[in-house]
This record gives sequence, C-alpha cells and structure tokens, in this order.
Amino acid sequence: MFSSSSISLNTKESGSGRPREVPNLTEEKAVLPFFLRNAPVRGRFIRLGDLGNALLSRHKEADSAALFLMGKMAALTAGLATALKFEGNFTVQTKGDGLLSMMASDCSSEGALRVTLQKNEENKETPSKDAEAGKLLGSGYLAFTVQEKHAPQPQQGIVKMEGSETETLAHLAERYFKDSAQYPCHILLFSDLIEGKYQSAALILERLPDESQIRAVKDSSLSGDKIKDLWETACTLADTLKQDEALNATVPSEEIVYRLFGSLEVMASDFRSLSFGCRCTRQKIENMLKGFQGEEQKELIHEGKIEVDCHFCNIRFSFLPEEIIP
Ligand SMILES: [Zn+2]
Repeated sequence: MFSSSSISLNTKESGSGRPREVPNLTEEKAVLPFFLRNAPVRGRFIRLGDLGNALLSRHKEADSAALFLMGKMAALTAGLATALKFEGNFTVQTKGDGLLSMMASDCSSEGALRVTLQKNEENKETPSKDAEAGKLLGSGYLAFTVQEKHAPQPQQGIVKMEGSETETLAHLAERYFKDSAQYPCHILLFSDLIEGKYQSAALILERLPDESQIRAVKDSSLSGDKIKDLWETACTLADTLKQDEALNATVPSEEIVYRLFGSLEVMASDFRSLSFGCRCTRQKIENMLKGFQGEEQKELIHEGKIEVDCHFCNIRFSFLPEEIIP
C-alpha cells in the first residue's frame, strides 16, 4: 500500500517525519445499529461526517466520481464491519480494468477506518461526476476479507464485477450476500460534496437468516411468506431515504431511522464510533524499505532522499539514504 510517488502535500513535517495535522479524529455517532421488532430485520445507518471528509480530502489526486465512490465504499465497509463479532480487520477491495485499478477500504474491530485507491495508468479518461462503480472499476472482482487477529488465514468472499456502466457498489455488495451468504441484504450508499465537505452515508438492512434467530420479533410464529413480506416492506421503506436527507447532518441519525421504520417498531442500539484509521508509522515504512534488495533501494533515491507516500492518508515520509541502506 506504499509507493514512492510524488504527490505534493501541503503539510509540514514534525521531527518524527509525521505531519502534525494527522487527524486524531473520532466520529462518536458514526454507526447506529438497530433492529425491527415487527420484522426479521436488523440494520445499521452509517454517517461518516467529518471523518469521511478527512479520509477523502486527502486524495486530491482522484476525480470527484472516484472520491464519491470511495466515500460509499468507506461507509459500506464500516457498516459491514460493525455487524461482525470479531477481533481484527475487515477489508473491502476491488481489482478491475476500469479507470481505477484498485480501491480498498478497511475497518478494524475497534472502528479504525481507512480507504485508498489506485488509478489505472493506461486509462486517463475523466469520468463524469455521477459515474457509477461499473464505469470506474470496470470488470474484475470485489473481495470481502475478514482477518481475525489470531487466525492464521483470512476468510475471503468474492463477487465478480461485470463492468456494466449502471452497476453500483451497493448492487455488487447485495449480489455478494445473495450469492454467497445465506441471508439477503439491502444496501443504500450515498456520497456527495456539500458546502465543500465530502459527506458519506449508508443504510444497510439484513434479513435475519431463519426463524430461530428472530428472537427480537414479537410474533416468532410468523409464516415464511409473512416473513418475506415483512422483509420486502422494510426494503421499500428503506428506499424512501433520499441522498439529501441521508447526508443532512442537521437531521440526527435516530430521527432518520425512526422516520423510515417507525411502522415496524424500530429499536435503536448504542452508537458505534469510527476513527481515522491509518496505521502507518515511520518505523513500519523504514522496516519495509530495509526489506528491499540493495539495488531496489538505490532506485528509490531521488534528489538525495527516499520519499514514501502512504496511500491511505497521503502522508509523506522522507528518509536519508543512510537511514535505510547499510
Ligand atoms: Zn498512512
């Protein structure tokens, strides 16, 4: 996730090589988990707020459409990660032949969120502002990975991206849950630039897998057809959420969830916080550089320095060759 590119930064480095303005940012009310007492549904409403703006505005190299998609991916990642009972890291990553060869976002079990992208150097086309995932990412795959802290191997699930221009990130994620997981999900993703700030939000509904797990539902003797109807009703209600409302920070998240699902007796749980989650440190980058072969290390020297940009937070780390090369 690191490379020695040359993106210009307006940051002043402190003695540690880390700019002072690394956001130590926590969005306390980022994720609102809820369930519906009258339907076999649990969900999360996610709003990244200033955190999303801090994550996205560090990627000035990207087009607006790419940044909006990045905001949606970050909100999706946070929304899926906070539904898991795990200790470790959850990653959503794409690889494709579109305008972006890669986009990745990860969220730790503590709620540390970060996001990055890589442009396709062979395709310099500027996408329109409202270009969807299919256009931006092309054909390839979208992968969901859970790396448990103490597990030797990560668990990964993959969905194929067809590259059709109308394909959205929400559709891709829904298809993954439909095809590979046992329960369907309904996903709405939003991202826009409002008064100079990137705002991103997500609404994720999960249909609880089977009746035995519907402890929250008052009437647990519902028939299969009735459960299906209630799921569809919840999805229809979710679809009434429009981008303006989802991204309007003056409307509290609880109010949105109650407005949408009040008729199905919504029960909100405690908010989950998210924070700026880049885990780069000067030491980690130094170790990585020291791991290269002697010749490779020499190729990294430009104008008497080795400079490395972190792809997640766009912070530049600068080393003297003698710090790296023995
Ligand atoms: Zn970083």
